[in-house]
Amino acid sequence: MAKAEAQEAAANEIISSDPATGREVGRVSVTTPDEVREAVERSRQVFHMWKTTSFAERRRLVMRAREVILDEMEAIAELISAESGKPKGEAIALEIAPVLDLMQWIARSAEKMLRPRRVGIGLFGLLGRSSRVVYHPLGVVAIIPAWNYPFSIPLGEAVMSLMAGNTVVIKPSELTPLTGLKIGEIFEKAGFPKDAVQIVSGAGETGAALVEAAPDKIAFTGSVATGRKIAEAAAKNLTSVVLELGGKDPMIVLADADLEAATNAAVWGAFCNAGQNCASVERLYVHESIAEELTRRIVEKTGKLNLGPGIDPDVSVGPMSSERQIRIVERHVDDFREAGAVILTGGERYDAARERVSDAGTSEGKISASPRHRVSASLFFAPTVITGATNDMRPMREETFGPTLPICTFATDEEAIALANDTEFGLTASVWTRDIARGRRIAEQIEAGSVCINEHLYTHGIGQTPWGGFKNSGRGRTHGLEGLLELVQPQHIHTNRITLLPDAWWMPYSPAALETFRGFATKFATGSLLKTATLLPQLWKRIRELMK
Ligand code: NDP
Repeated sequence: MAKAEAQEAAANEIISSDPATGREVGRVSVTTPDEVREAVERSRQVFHMWKTTSFAERRRLVMRAREVILDEMEAIAELISAESGKPKGEAIALEIAPVLDLMQWIARSAEKMLRPRRVGIGLFGLLGRSSRVVYHPLGVVAIIPAWNYPFSIPLGEAVMSLMAGNTVVIKPSELTPLTGLKIGEIFEKAGFPKDAVQIVSGAGETGAALVEAAPDKIAFTGSVATGRKIAEAAAKNLTSVVLELGGKDPMIVLADADLEAATNAAVWGAFCNAGQNCASVERLYVHESIAEELTRRIVEKTGKLNLGPGIDPDVSVGPMSSERQIRIVERHVDDFREAGAVILTGGERYDAARERVSDAGTSEGKISASPRHRVSASLFFAPTVITGATNDMRPMREETFGPTLPICTFATDEEAIALANDTEFGLTASVWTRDIARGRRIAEQIEAGSVCINEHLYTHGIGQTPWGGFKNSGRGRTHGLEGLLELVQPQHIHTNRITLLPDAWWMPYSPAALETFRGFATKFATGSLLKTATLLPQLWKRIRELMK
């Protein structure tokens, strides 16, 4: 397509293109702000019906949606790969499989997790009182995800929202709009009520319109800068927001680590999805005694990775998603060079990928022009290993979100912890050691939402566990009980079974009342039954006074 035509089309259409080839994957109409408002309004109407459905009915529909995904798995994986560039295998292993697991878990567990529960209220119980907490759905949940996991993140959040009794409006990234529409289609085929899940398409402005339309909750995944904008805009309507933001995640390799496992994990953790993971290894800290050997093995394994279009099963690293993204990586690599770090392998766009694209027959050896962020140059960036990096270098402080692996050394555990925590981010981290107790001690001192011992990156795929960041990596949680509780409002039902006697704190007040209140503060509020017992004569005096 000619560039002018692409730009003309971009006003009311998104043209989704394959970052490996620049080829058009498909087109999607942009939803106008008015249509976004209408979608939220329809969602709110369906909510009043949906919130009354039983957990059994919700479970049935979610399990049916799983079947639809399984039936169409190959086509879905190819679509994810075509729009995002990731290898088809990664689309299955890191998106489809984890979200299927999350679906079966939440479908089976939500009822138990949201069951009304009695809450212990201490000495108030002696006064014939009891408390229960019941959970109510919120209403319309707006889901605004990033492009890097365009299927599993919005789908997982939608399923959790639905199981909690909410309805959903999703605004997929403009880079992966067809994957977003596919999610809507899956819910429709599964038999969910019309408008229980709606997709609105467009770029940032469409997302802003969705925030403006005053949903009851916003589940946002993306950069710190956009997260901040969304939090500001949401504050206008007091809409609460879960923010899943960027990371600069450290991997700490202690001297006693299993070197082979640590090496393989570092290569995978830094280069899968072309490094475009919020939880990628973006800083590797290795004990100085094993740094040389670890680095040698990482460089050797990196050299064996095939780059190419994600549809090719031999390919481990696909293209980056966009020109904007690859330019950040180039700038960071240049910054590393200028600051004195050493690029051991990679470090530039991978032109050979063009030939590989040509070999695979997916283009005529020419990467064609594409709209928006994508341009005609190769979007492949060679996996890059860097040594001599230090925390004061700029790219060690900003999120790169690309296939770079800077390696630094440390001498003591304390130094490793300090280096790992020396960042505005705190999403995930990993510690590699054969001494699990030592690993746990270190893990608990790292300021991050998830810390793995002898693992990295994959825990977003464990739906049962909370996911979210410390510091600027986010607010709130998705997944796990903590994530489910973000999607409901707790209601406290308090009952008093003894109404014959007045409460001692009722009016009118008097000197006896004041004395009783002192007793509340000094005796009852200690939580001690013995101390509270000594208050009984004063309490009885006060109650008699009130009954006169
Ligand atoms: P962005 O912040 O650019 O975009 C995220 C989403 O917000 C997209 O759908 C985008 O639309 C939309 N958007 C953009 N501007 C606005 C606005 N003003 N109002 C409402 N919505 C808006 O992030 P990226 O897409 O670049 O994603 C990469 C980032 O996401 C990285 O920082 C990464 O670490 C983070 N991330 C965090 C995860 C986590 O779990 N913590 C998981 C995955 C990624 P559009 O794309 O159409 O412009």
